[in-house]
Amino acid sequence: MLLVRYKVRMSEAGVHFFDRLSGLNVLLDEVKVPAERISRAPRYLSVALTNACELRCAYCYAPKHASSLDVDRVVAWAVELDAAGCLGVGFGGGEPTAHRQFVELCARVAESTSMAVTFTTHGHRLTPAVTDALRGSVHFARLSVDGVGPTYERLRRRPFAAVISAAGLLRSVAPIGINAVVNADTIGELDDLSAFAADVGASELLLLPEQPTAATPGISDADAERLVHWMRTARPQVRLAISRSGLESLVPAVEVIPGEHPLDAHMHVDAAGVLRPHAYASAGTPIEDSILDAVQALREAA
Ligand code: SF4
Repeated sequence: MLLVRYKVRMSEAGVHFFDRLSGLNVLLDEVKVPAERISRAPRYLSVALTNACELRCAYCYAPKHASSLDVDRVVAWAVELDAAGCLGVGFGGGEPTAHRQFVELCARVAESTSMAVTFTTHGHRLTPAVTDALRGSVHFARLSVDGVGPTYERLRRRPFAAVISAAGLLRSVAPIGINAVVNADTIGELDDLSAFAADVGASELLLLPEQPTAATPGISDADAERLVHWMRTARPQVRLAISRSGLESLVPAVEVIPGEHPLDAHMHVDAAGVLRPHAYASAGTPIEDSILDAVQALREAA
C-alpha cells in the first residue's frame, strides 16, 4: 500500500507539497490555483506559549506581564489551521519549555494534525527525560545561542558548556537550527557562530538582527551593514536564514516561496491569545471562537 505523507497547500504561488518528517518542500509553481481553492491559513504560525523565562537578556522583546496560553485552545487552533492548509506551528515565548504542559501540547498537536511541530528554546530546561518525552512529537527545534564562549556567558548569564549539552539533547529529538541575535556584542562572532552550528550538527543558522525595545535601540546601521556583507561573502557549512527585519531583500538567504505575501507566509499568536502579523507587531486581533476568523480580520485590517 502506498503511504501518502505529503500535506498539500494551495496558494497564489502554486501547489505546495510538504512532508514534515523529511522537511521536504515541493512547489508546483506552474499550476494556477483558482481563487476559491486558495488555502485560508497562513503557511506558518508561531505561538508564544508563555511570557515566562528565567533568563534576563537585555534585548528580550517578550512582554514582561505574566501570560500563558491554555493547551486546549492551542490544540483547537492547530486543528483548525491544519485543515485550512497551514504547514507548521512553532512554539516560543518567553521560554516555551517553561509552560507546564509543553510536552503534552507538542504530542497532542503532532497527533491531531499533519503540521510540522517546532519550537525555539534557550535549552537550559532540557533534560534527558524531557527530550525523551518530546521525541516523535517534534519535527524541528531551534536553539538560541547569542555569541559563543564568554560572549554567550555575559549575555545569557549561563555556562556555554550548558548550551553545548542542550544542543546534543535537542539533536537527539529532531533536526535543529541555531538562532542568534545579531547586535554590537555578536556581530564579530558570525564566523564562530556558523562553525558552532556546524559542529553541533545544526542544519541552519537563523540570524535575528536585534529589534528595538524599551530597553535597547536595536541593531545599529553600521552593524546591519556588516551583517549584510558577512551574509553575502561567508561560506558557512550550514544554511543561512534571516528574520523579517528589513534586511532580508539584501542578503542571499533562503526564500521558501519567492514573492509570498507576508500574511500568507506567517502570523503570530502572543501569550495573551492575540493574533499579530509577526512577533514584533504592536497591533493584532484577539482570537475569539475561531482562529480563521481572526486570520481573516487581520488580513482585512492590513
Ligand atoms: S532567553 Fe529569550 S525569552 Fe528568555 S530573556 Fe532571553 S531573549 Fe527573552
